[in-house]
Amino acid sequence: MLSGEETVEGRVESHLSVISARKNLNAFLSVFNDEALMSARDVDRKIKNGSAGPLAGMVIAVKDVLCMTGKITTCGSKMLQNFESIYDATVIRKLKEADAVFIGKTNMDEFAMGSSGENSAYGATKHPIDETRVPGGSSSGSCVAVAAGMSTASLGTDTGGSIRQPAGLCGIVGLKPTYGRVSRYGLVAFASSFDQIGPFTNSVRDAAAILQVIAGKDENDSTSADIPVPDYASKMNRSVNGLKIGLPKEYFSDALNPEIRSVLQAKIDALKKAGAKIVEVSLPNSEYTVSTYYILATAEASSNLARYDGARYGYRSPHSTDLQSMYVRSRSEGFGDEVKRRIMLGTYVLSSGYYDAYYRKAQQVRRLIQNDFVNAFKEVDCLLTPISPTSAFKLGEKMDDPLQMYLNDIYTVSANLAGIPGISIPAGTDKNGLPVGVQLLGKQFDEATILKVGDFLETVN
Ligand code: GLN
Repeated sequence: MLSGEETVEGRVESHLSVISARKNLNAFLSVFNDEALMSARDVDRKIKNGSAGPLAGMVIAVKDVLCMTGKITTCGSKMLQNFESIYDATVIRKLKEADAVFIGKTNMDEFAMGSSGENSAYGATKHPIDETRVPGGSSSGSCVAVAAGMSTASLGTDTGGSIRQPAGLCGIVGLKPTYGRVSRYGLVAFASSFDQIGPFTNSVRDAAAILQVIAGKDENDSTSADIPVPDYASKMNRSVNGLKIGLPKEYFSDALNPEIRSVLQAKIDALKKAGAKIVEVSLPNSEYTVSTYYILATAEASSNLARYDGARYGYRSPHSTDLQSMYVRSRSEGFGDEVKRRIMLGTYVLSSGYYDAYYRKAQQVRRLIQNDFVNAFKEVDCLLTPISPTSAFKLGEKMDDPLQMYLNDIYTVSANLAGIPGISIPAGTDKNGLPVGVQLLGKQFDEATILKVGDFLETVN
């Protein structure tokens, strides 16, 4: 992981200098300067005496939605501006035990709601290649940290694409594990039946190394799965010979941007040449994914975010005069526009009279979408798809049109509805030099196959 004479301390120093040189990208909400250097020196000592853990040398940035003892966790919201976590998320504990070093906490769309990084109460994150553009979201800062060299890797969360989409737009690797593969203990909830934690890295091998450490059953999260975690590295042999890879025809319709299509075609050709079998498959309910996701995710969000009432923790309005006005004013002043929009949508679809028409119906459609994947995986080992309809768009371009912003998630939300793993791999660039990624989707708990295919794809240009 470290090259030649490199030390962890030296690596932290160089990341810290990029963080300060590129402050205008607005990727970090807090930086752990001295603490990171101190832990780096600790790990350097362990490396010398041969007792270092598997992630020694990995300098990690953390999306500000994950709890770390004694650190502020804002979730990109004014609501939690001064909220100090009192415990470590399970992923943080595991990474620490593996000797990773934490460098800071990153900017994000408020409560992970967004696809551009513009919904943060602390200002938009900017794309490292073109600062007039968005880096994608909601894990905007974690993605930019890795893409710009501010950290070796980072943690993001993916409820509807928030790891894979920014990774695609910034040209790095982003992995969303199977729902239940990684404990959500210590992750501030957005939509609990969708949320998963995963890594951003510069290589598939680094992503596998991190997943290896953070995966597994956790007594503190009853939705974490008690399913053995394979040794991912040993399965990556750069051979795809004989593998069956499906192209969902609904994702390759005439509506697909031709530049993205041609970047993906080059990867598909390379897979064919290496002996993979490319098969067309169908996911017939694809047209319903965005609407189903935005009904169910907003419903869950409206329930999860009810806890921010100004009474227990988080922002309390100084203008309140009685209990009712404390609730109303704290929530009105503490939440931003997109979060309020989601709470209203979610409350509406759950309200009596509309529950059957929207929430229950969406649950039923979710099952149909899950079945589409089960059927497709009877024929193929994994799927290959686009990640987003366009490369990085301009800051402000979609801010006045929430529906356009939601439609950006068309290729990513299906994996969260079905609970399956997905990974973004850099695939090329468009005519403006902006990155285009390719998405691989796997069977539930079969991260190994998409890591293996992704690792192969990294070797073909
Ligand atoms: N863009 C999607 C949304 O706004 C996904 C967000 C996420 O994955 N956290 O809900």
